[in-house]
Amino acid sequence: MQLATSQIKEQARRLGFEACGIAPAAAIPGEAARLDAWLAKGYEAGMSYLANHRALRLDPAELVPGARSIISFALNYFPAQRRDPSLPHIAYYAYGRDYHKVMKRKLRQLWESLGGREEEARLFVDSAPVLERYWAWRAGLGWIGKNNCLILPGRGSFFFLGEIMTTREVDAYDEPMPSRCGTCDRCLRACPSGALEAPHLLNANRCFSYLTIENKGEIPDELARKLGNRLYGCDTCQTVCPHNRFARPTHVEEFRPSEELLHLSKADLEKLTEEEYDRIFQGSAVRRAKYEGLMRNLRALYPTPPAEDKPQPPRS
Ligand code: SF4
Ligand code: SF4
Repeated sequence: MQLATSQIKEQARRLGFEACGIAPAAAIPGEAARLDAWLAKGYEAGMSYLANHRALRLDPAELVPGARSIISFALNYFPAQRRDPSLPHIAYYAYGRDYHKVMKRKLRQLWESLGGREEEARLFVDSAPVLERYWAWRAGLGWIGKNNCLILPGRGSFFFLGEIMTTREVDAYDEPMPSRCGTCDRCLRACPSGALEAPHLLNANRCFSYLTIENKGEIPDELARKLGNRLYGCDTCQTVCPHNRFARPTHVEEFRPSEELLHLSKADLEKLTEEEYDRIFQGSAVRRAKYEGLMRNLRALYPTPPAEDKPQPPRS
């Protein structure tokens, strides 16, 4: 039996999602060439998992046999209170509780409220090889900006995305949205490391978001010198985007930062023990970099000056 689109969207609003749209599930061979060309350049850097499960990424039926619909959701994380710009920057998405859990719980609630059965759907929040920005675009939530973020009209790009992939049909599907980037290229010009090589072309090897979060190695010196004050993540290609002038603070309580996180200074970080790290970042997405990763970022931001040359005894 078909699900009513209006009912799905009403429940999504009730649960605090900023946007919801629905696309028919179908294979997307058109995305294969783009994905393959990007991987061939090695631009996924150390995220080798992005090269895995190619078939699953390109055909929803490989993930959910008999899939008919993909319902996409956007959940706002733009913080009302932000760290002072003079403090080391922590990406806004990581201010609150780990979004995977928060969003998955909401998706589960939504599916149950529709009377959906467990075997009829799978819920995803960054948790499976799903081209989530593509599906959100296809479901009419917004367009994919030249900075590779999904941009919601009149609301910007500070959103988490999640999906319900289901074997059920709906009574009305949404249409994709054309790009509204126009001739703008602010994100490309503002990227401090040249990671955005061209519209929609991100070289993760140079991206501070990757280098300070997922990256397992050291940050190359050439790039570390350009870090500015980026301690964890970057956000620059989003903050410069004119569409984020319309960003409104999230109402999701779990994404509200603690006072401690808001005011954590360079001096605090320099004496941060692993136990304090565990306490301050408990349940936070910052834990993805682990304590060692955060300390590596700190060393890259504030390298220790070389020790002064020891005075040499005068030559005789
Ligand atoms: S997150 Fe930062 S480094 Fe990465 S593409 Fe955007 S502006 Fe460039
Ligand atoms: S900064 Fe301009 S080009 Fe970049 S995503 Fe925003 S609107 Fe598009």
